[in-house]
Amino acid sequence: MTTGIWVLGDQLWTGQAALSSCEKEKKQTPVILVESRCYAQQRSYHRQKLVLVWSAMRHFASELRSAGWLVTYSIADDFQTALLNWIEKNGIREVRVMTGNDRPLMQLIQNWQLGCSVRFIPNNHFLWSAAEFRDWAQGRKRLLLEDFYREGRKRFKVLMNGNQPIGGQWNFDKQNRRPPQVKLETPQPLWFEPDEMTQSVIDAIKDENLTNYGEIEPFRWGVTRSDAKAVLEHFLRICLPTFGPYQDAMVTGEETLWHSLISPYLNLGLLNPMEVIEAAQKAYFENELELNSVEGFIRQVLGWREYMHGIYHYLDKDYRENNWFNHSEPLPDFYWHSDQTNMNCLHQVLIQVEKTGYAHHIQRLMVLSNFALIVGVDPQEIESWFHAAFVDAHDWVMVSNVIGMGQFADGGILASKPYASSANYINKMSDYCKNCAYNRRQRIGEKACPFNFFYWDFLARHQEKLKSLGRMNLALGNLLRISAEELEKIQALAVDWRQNHLLSNIN
Ligand code: SF4
Repeated sequence: MTTGIWVLGDQLWTGQAALSSCEKEKKQTPVILVESRCYAQQRSYHRQKLVLVWSAMRHFASELRSAGWLVTYSIADDFQTALLNWIEKNGIREVRVMTGNDRPLMQLIQNWQLGCSVRFIPNNHFLWSAAEFRDWAQGRKRLLLEDFYREGRKRFKVLMNGNQPIGGQWNFDKQNRRPPQVKLETPQPLWFEPDEMTQSVIDAIKDENLTNYGEIEPFRWGVTRSDAKAVLEHFLRICLPTFGPYQDAMVTGEETLWHSLISPYLNLGLLNPMEVIEAAQKAYFENELELNSVEGFIRQVLGWREYMHGIYHYLDKDYRENNWFNHSEPLPDFYWHSDQTNMNCLHQVLIQVEKTGYAHHIQRLMVLSNFALIVGVDPQEIESWFHAAFVDAHDWVMVSNVIGMGQFADGGILASKPYASSANYINKMSDYCKNCAYNRRQRIGEKACPFNFFYWDFLARHQEKLKSLGRMNLALGNLLRISAEELEKIQALAVDWRQNHLLSNIN
């Protein structure tokens, strides 16, 4: 019986489970990778996301060929036609696929008739399988990230001294929230020049005009495992020693600061999570690095990333439809066109996303997501935008992250309170407010910062629901201190803004 392997675009690792299952017979095992034009057109994508995924797939196909696999690389209108042709041509009786991370694609595959059996091999690209996460989650009142992270530290023996965390604490976040009050000497990120194969993908995407969001050049992401390993190595050597203190800071013109930039590679399978964690832990011991930096980074991979993936598969498939606040405003047009807003924080972050397909976690959470939340944007619409805009976006990571953490649309399954804030937080953690058309101190008046009037408007609109959360009591107490007259003015500004920016979508 001929067995063939279909490698999905985010499974670009020779150790992935489907390839491993046929490693001994690789010279007789047909393998296929498919670039589906229709799939890519089902939603908007950043131009650089398409270049990244397709170029990485083409490079991986070439790597597999060199290793002796019988590889077909298909550029097709749709997955199914390409697969049917390949199955027929190679007389395939069983197609093996490593279980995909994203539910929509898995549902599609399960509904196809390919004329042969399809066998899903359990995904080995995460440290926690779906079943292991379920065992951890079942019976718990709250699925707290911190609890999950501690369990992961113990289970995988990471930064542990017996049963106790090294340094006597699990979390050193208090040392990792330094505002950028001084001029920061930031490291240069490691970028790459496109090779011939990447350039041909760039040219194809330009010619075919497949998507219209984001700048396609300069394209500087790595596209192979060896590029990804070089980025990891660069991070460990240059950035990790001082990663911690300024990991929440936002600085104009500084796109990457000390951030690792490895999420696109982890999410495509070019790096695997345990090698990243072990490398960081080794660097800690060998180079005597600061624990707050190393622990903060390891928590992103061992804690946050695994947790988001686990939650996505643990919760019901309708989780993505949650809308606890019943928000229904359209997404402001300037999310797609950074030049259409004069709010400097949003303008700066959106320019960066257009240029690179990247922003760090605080820019995403406390600028982009926060604003959509306090304005009252439909959570599914902002989730869709996040999925489109970032090169590291995949369904599994964006649904839980945006619906749960960013928009609190699940009513508190993931987070214990909404990440809503006024200009105060942005001013503390960035230099954006210094050059803004709005006044960060004002919540009413001509120059009032929209983050301010929307923040108070959000609290006023949802105070009954927010009271039930406990952790919002301080903020709600402050709301009560605002006079009825001022609150009326705040709410009038919010209504006006929506009318001017959402109904007509002209800023
Ligand atoms: Fe953003 Fe308001 Fe600060 Fe301007 S003043 S940068 S809109 S938070």
